[in-house]
Amino acid sequence: MTALTPDPSVLPRVAPPAARQSLLGLGREALREALIAIGTPERQANMRVAQLWSWIYQKGVQDFGAMTNLAKGFREELAAHFTVERPEVAALQVSQDGTRKYLLRLVEGHEVEAVYIPDENRGTLCISSQIGCTLNCTFCHTGTQKLVRNLTAAEIVAQVMVARDDLEEWPEPGSPHEGRRRITNLVLMGMGEPLYNFENVRDAMNIVMDNEGISISRRRITLSTSGVVPEIVRAGEEIGCLLAISFHATLDETRDTLVPINKKWNIKTLLDTLRAYPRLSNAERITFEYVMLKGVNDSDADARRLVRLIAGIPAKINLIPFNPWPGSPYERSSWQRIEAFAEIVNNAGYASPVRTPRGEDIMAACGQLKSASQKLRKSALKRGQA
Ligand code: SAH
Ligand code: SF4
Repeated sequence: MTALTPDPSVLPRVAPPAARQSLLGLGREALREALIAIGTPERQANMRVAQLWSWIYQKGVQDFGAMTNLAKGFREELAAHFTVERPEVAALQVSQDGTRKYLLRLVEGHEVEAVYIPDENRGTLCISSQIGCTLNCTFCHTGTQKLVRNLTAAEIVAQVMVARDDLEEWPEPGSPHEGRRRITNLVLMGMGEPLYNFENVRDAMNIVMDNEGISISRRRITLSTSGVVPEIVRAGEEIGCLLAISFHATLDETRDTLVPINKKWNIKTLLDTLRAYPRLSNAERITFEYVMLKGVNDSDADARRLVRLIAGIPAKINLIPFNPWPGSPYERSSWQRIEAFAEIVNNAGYASPVRTPRGEDIMAACGQLKSASQKLRKSALKRGQA
């Protein structure tokens, strides 16, 4: 018998390496199952989970090779099946005021943004929950972006990790000490409606809040929703972070236009739900976000109606000067108007901080985030047709 010489032209093409599963965003149980599936003995699995969490979330290691308390063979096994890499930072823009905007490129080329806002005694990271948003609030740039998908828990956690990488927050290798914390607060106020991506947001926040995870206290995390009523109570029970509501109008007629989800769950339904919110207390007040739009929702009568509507709800009112974007149909209220509005709210006993617009020169302010994903897709389509 002659040895068969394979004809290279008919050899099966080598399959591209199977995409390795990301371990970021896996809860302890899911991680345990993933380890057992690659042959980790069950009796060791809990210990391995604890070791991996520590390397990933407390030390920020990006490569299994650096996990020095794991046997070399196990590290190789992990590297063959899994990854702890972050999405690529396609662009980092730094504003004159120190705000940093990260544009992250995800696996299929879609993009999403996160923004770090440094302040005197704290630093807030604003993260996204979706690519684009299915809702279309008329004053919000993200709402004009058509292309949408939910971010995975991995992609949500990865935004925090990318910012920690950039801000050099991880402890020095070998140091027993915590690194310097520059991200003290987290807000889910970037792109997307977090309560329309409930499970992934919850799983990601459970890792962020975990003492053996990224360890940011639930009281320093604020989830902002446009008012997805059926998920609000669930957020209190299953996530337990602070809540902000994009309120923006005191009449259904106006809110129907500004925040169209109001047509589904109107002001009364929303407020009734908030009154029943499980975590409601003076220590954990609900933030009512109110974007100040010239001549639309900024009158004295609006301010008075607002305090009447929310009476009895432990709350603070965050006035957000409108941040314009190219082609936006509204104007920002004058400072004088904003101050007059704030005074009425203040006199009624509510704290009413006016949010200073940050990072405007790099289009990083509230409601200005809109990735190029849609444009990319259009140009890709054009190329395909050519
Ligand atoms: N989808 C969620 C969270 C993201 S938006 C929500 O709507 O709550 C975060 C905040 O920025 C919301 O209060 C939103 O209403 C506000 N916002 C959106 N566009 C804005 C703009 N152009 N100027 C100022 N605030 C804006
Ligand atoms: Fe979506 Fe929030 Fe923008 Fe409305 S304000 S379109 S819910 S991101």
